[in-house]
Amino acid sequence: MSIRAAVLTAPGKAPEVWDIPDPSLEPGSVLLETVASEVCGTDVHLSHGRLAGVPYPIIPGHVSVGRILETRGVAKDFSGAPVASGDVVTFYDVHEVCGACWYCLVAKQPNRCPSRRVYGITYSAKEGPLGGWAERIYLKPGVKLLRLPEPLTADEVIGGGCGLFTGFAAVERSGMALGDAVLVQGAGPVGLSAAAFAALRGASLVIVIGAPANRLELARAVGADVTLSLTEMPPRERAARVRDLTGGRGVDVAIEAAGNPAAIEEGFRLLRDGGTYVIAGHYTDVGTATVNFHTDVNRKHADVRGQWGTDFTHVWRALTLLAKHRDRLRLDRVIGGRYGLDEAGRALADVESLAVTKAIIVPSKTTRPTAAG
Ligand SMILES: [Zn+2]
Ligand SMILES: [Zn+2]
Repeated sequence: MSIRAAVLTAPGKAPEVWDIPDPSLEPGSVLLETVASEVCGTDVHLSHGRLAGVPYPIIPGHVSVGRILETRGVAKDFSGAPVASGDVVTFYDVHEVCGACWYCLVAKQPNRCPSRRVYGITYSAKEGPLGGWAERIYLKPGVKLLRLPEPLTADEVIGGGCGLFTGFAAVERSGMALGDAVLVQGAGPVGLSAAAFAALRGASLVIVIGAPANRLELARAVGADVTLSLTEMPPRERAARVRDLTGGRGVDVAIEAAGNPAAIEEGFRLLRDGGTYVIAGHYTDVGTATVNFHTDVNRKHADVRGQWGTDFTHVWRALTLLAKHRDRLRLDRVIGGRYGLDEAGRALADVESLAVTKAIIVPSKTTRPTAAG
């Protein structure tokens, strides 16, 4: 039996549906039937070749939810909760971090571990179904499996997706204090998550700058107090508004989740002296931003921090909090479109044009007959 998968064959090429051989299961592995996998901004960048060292052809899809089809000696998830065939689970896309190298042991920065591999990004389609845009996903031994925290649904988890974890990580990285005024730049999945978690962490004020209007409405629904339009309000007016709201000082914490260099300049302007600025949206190289290190950093005493990707701790704690606050967060609302494997190209285009906030790939929706792979 073979597995149909949407494959990015090379940067700039439209995705193709390929037939991938079914993997032979090693001890400690799990085979999932994909329920849904997300299309995130990183996938758009992958389709343009903006991430270094990607072994095209690849099966994208780093955050996915699936139903267990088969396991080889795996009876529990990472936390010890029992799992069996038929259970709906998710897994941490990053794995094979060694725990034994200089970065793992001394710097405690597993993100820099040379053994680190990521589903949907660092595997070639020729290595097997190791991305979520496929009918089945092979979880190699050691991949961290987790049951969805009760009562979360697959849609809520995938609606949050990797943006949920990245937004959570950015808020945590900021070290924000109870009562801080927080600015979030960007109202995509990362920005929405950052706004939600900043509110939960006790911000006195959460301001979101973004577009289009329906994303700003979502931002208010998940916890933003004030939203300012990126497209309809000139930067000078936004700056005046932020100053009005913060006693003329600017925000205590700014979180960049825009993925656009133009946001950086504005972020520094809106940050108060001695404030903290977390850059979370520049996961791929989107170009150079202009910073005046005298006014923006040195004299301002700004604390500037980068947050690249996430650790497992962010995944687990973000999902646990989402489960508690699901009624308010309702991240399934973020899903704007469901696409079959044969519609992956359209899904990428819709995410890139902001036509949808979150597109998801649902392999069971695939209708077109398989193309030659
Ligand atoms: Zn992602
Ligand atoms: Zn390591």
